[in-house]
Amino acid sequence: MYVESVDFKRQSWESKILGDLLTRLIANGYQGLLAEVHQAAGRFSRPRADRSLPASLGQADGFADVLIPPAQPHTRVIFFLAQPDLLRMVVAGRNQTEVRRVATATKMHLEAAVGGHISELLTDVADRDGPDRFRREVVPALHLTAAGGLVVGLRDGAPMQMMLALRRQPAFRGRPTALGSQLSTLLPDKPSEQAREAMERLVSSKIVERWHVVICRQGGQWLAVAPGLDEIKSFIGSSVACPHCGTRMGEEIQEVAYRLTEAADAQLADNRPLCELLDAALRRAGAEAVVIDPGRGAIDGAAFYRGTVLVFRARQGAPSAEETAQLLEQARVVEQQGWRVVSLLVCDQPAPADLRQSGVFVVDNISRLDAALEEILSKIREQQASALLPPVLRPLAISVADLLPPE
Ligand SMILES: [Zn+2]
Repeated sequence: MYVESVDFKRQSWESKILGDLLTRLIANGYQGLLAEVHQAAGRFSRPRADRSLPASLGQADGFADVLIPPAQPHTRVIFFLAQPDLLRMVVAGRNQTEVRRVATATKMHLEAAVGGHISELLTDVADRDGPDRFRREVVPALHLTAAGGLVVGLRDGAPMQMMLALRRQPAFRGRPTALGSQLSTLLPDKPSEQAREAMERLVSSKIVERWHVVICRQGGQWLAVAPGLDEIKSFIGSSVACPHCGTRMGEEIQEVAYRLTEAADAQLADNRPLCELLDAALRRAGAEAVVIDPGRGAIDGAAFYRGTVLVFRARQGAPSAEETAQLLEQARVVEQQGWRVVSLLVCDQPAPADLRQSGVFVVDNISRLDAALEEILSKIREQQASALLPPVLRPLAISVADLLPPE
């Protein structure tokens, strides 16, 4: 099944225009539910002029109709007033080609009924619940950094090794830091030239920041620290003497220090390999946007598919109830923004049975990842299609799929 939805905005959709639209569609071979109801009513009561289709629309609270377009028995067109100024057209059919063809033809009838150019009535449906809004609202609300994925070149040896070695160094302003003169000791099994190259790569990837320092030759204390060389130069040029040994600054040691940034945490996170796997699987399954950012918060990432947000934790090892509760808490943050949300927990060890009852979708068998995602996404597609339907169909429990004849 393929579904397309378009919203048409107008100051108000008077019953006369809607009546004209239906009359025109029926004259052109569409079969409409409302027209059928009128005919049926005619069999049970005397015909009256004020019960014409346009007239009775004026007395109705809302407006909704389901139509079968001419020569397209496998397609349905649903019109309804989503808001007084918003007419929604939903077209459902077997595939995109059929749906597009019917949507185009029906739009032309709407254009004729309105007596104007339809492009002026189109609202920005794509933005209403699209991937742009996901990036703009959901990603910051979840405190995710959109720059997911391993930094290029990190996978191969030296930079990753350098990063791991740097992580064990003492902290300067809260983050592990090493001096430039120590680099070769950080990668003892590699030539010092390669160590320098690896470090430069980490600097250009913003995983490491470079600082310039002045160090006391006698006591080893750090006398001045600055990100730029100019600041250090002006400090050295001043007449200040070292408070520890009294030597002029110009004669103390000038060094470069490398400090691991917070961006490194995500690169080193234990959940990273599973996240990469999930990221790839989500994109294969058709997710419109995926952001992974493991190791920094209660969740490892989020994805967007057809108006629904998936928040997920991709956990190496067995997940705990506490982590699941945190995942659900983040899901609620997104729900409060008005999104439909699916919470997903992917792990490479069997999850306790009670986690499955918590409202979280659990995948603890990685070889089933693609199949499990397809199951989730097809459920989302069904939900999306049903959310587009007019409220009048809800008491009848009719879904879009029910409207289409079996193939
Ligand atoms: Zn000194």
